[in-house]
Amino acid sequence: MRVVDVAHLTKVYGHRLNRVTALNDLSFHIEAGEFVGIMGPSGAGKSTLLNMIATIDQPTSGKLTVAGKELTALRDSEAAAYRREDLGFIFQAFNLVPDLTVADNITLPQTFVPPLPKDLDQRLMHFANLLGLVPLLKRYPEQLSLGQRQRVAAARAMIGHPDLILADEPTGSLDSMAATELLQYLAKLNLEEDVTIMMVTHDAFTASFCNRIIFIRDGAYFAEVTRRSSRQAF
Ligand code: ADP
Ligand code: ADP
Repeated sequence: MRVVDVAHLTKVYGHRLNRVTALNDLSFHIEAGEFVGIMGPSGAGKSTLLNMIATIDQPTSGKLTVAGKELTALRDSEAAAYRREDLGFIFQAFNLVPDLTVADNITLPQTFVPPLPKDLDQRLMHFANLLGLVPLLKRYPEQLSLGQRQRVAAARAMIGHPDLILADEPTGSLDSMAATELLQYLAKLNLEEDVTIMMVTHDAFTASFCNRIIFIRDGAYFAEVTRRSSRQAF
């Protein structure tokens, strides 16, 4: 099954003299279960692409289908449901709520629209276990290391059982030990929970945890590398 289908995606910002073509006929797709890295120089269009998959921004032309939904065809309420049910987000800056405990941060996305899922506590414990967060559930974000904070963000991204996790420079705020640990956890989520991950990064070490890396340049597909098995080094 295709989780992400990017077809001739073009995005032009501005008009007349200050037109910027951020995406220029970009096409690729991602199959269920892949852990894909998106790499490219600054200005290549990586953030623009993420914003479109997150339905924060609309393409100028082309088609974008995620989890079986054609994104440009969604109404606002459908887009909100898509973001909540089909996507999980991990950002460079964690984006945790400082006044909420780790447990409440993890379950937060499920509390926006009532009723609460009946199995929410079970889900919380499942992902807390998987990500080594059980002893930390009552703490607040500022009482955690940066690596632990990003694991909380990963648990929060998983709590709605999304089809796709979008990770935007998830190791950008971490030292290399914490980054390695986080990437091992993301690889574990990818393998054991069967979640597809699309990770934007400019860091080759970070991207080396992916089973495929797509390189984009000037808003267009440039090249890719795939490794034979998900546990094998390039
Ligand atoms: P419009 O006036 O067509 O609605 P936008 O709202 O997309 O244009 O952006 C207005 C202007 O702000 C752009 O033309 C651009 O010069 C600038 N701008 C905004 N965000 C960015 C960005 N991320 N990178 C570069 N320029 C930007
Ligand atoms: P990357 O994330 O790979 O660095 P971006 O998607 O941020 O690339 O940017 C791609 C191009 O589009 C750049 O030239 C950038 O300046 C431009 N751009 C991005 N957002 C806007 C915007 N809102 N308005 C105008 N130009 C933008």
